[in-house]
Amino acid sequence: MLSRLALFLVLAVVVARAFWRLVDGILEGVRGKRPDGQVPTRGVQMVRDPVCGTFVLPDQALTIGDGRAQLFFCSSTCRDKFLARA
Ligand SMILES: [Zn+2]
Repeated sequence: MLSRLALFLVLAVVVARAFWRLVDGILEGVRGKRPDGQVPTRGVQMVRDPVCGTFVLPDQALTIGDGRAQLFFCSSTCRDKFLARA
């Protein structure tokens, strides 16, 4: 009698876990299918390299600045070109 109750409880826990995993999977599937969910870096402002015109992420770009304005470059090659030109 008692072992039956224990078995029932174990089964209930297993079923509940499976159920929540299923719900999680469905929710994730719904979120993943949204077209706007494909842009993880939304809101991050891209900056333009003035030498070659490539758009770069500010935290990955090389920068020079004089306090008022800051310029972003995709590589040291572009930065050096810009500095040689100026
Ligand atoms: Zn560049």
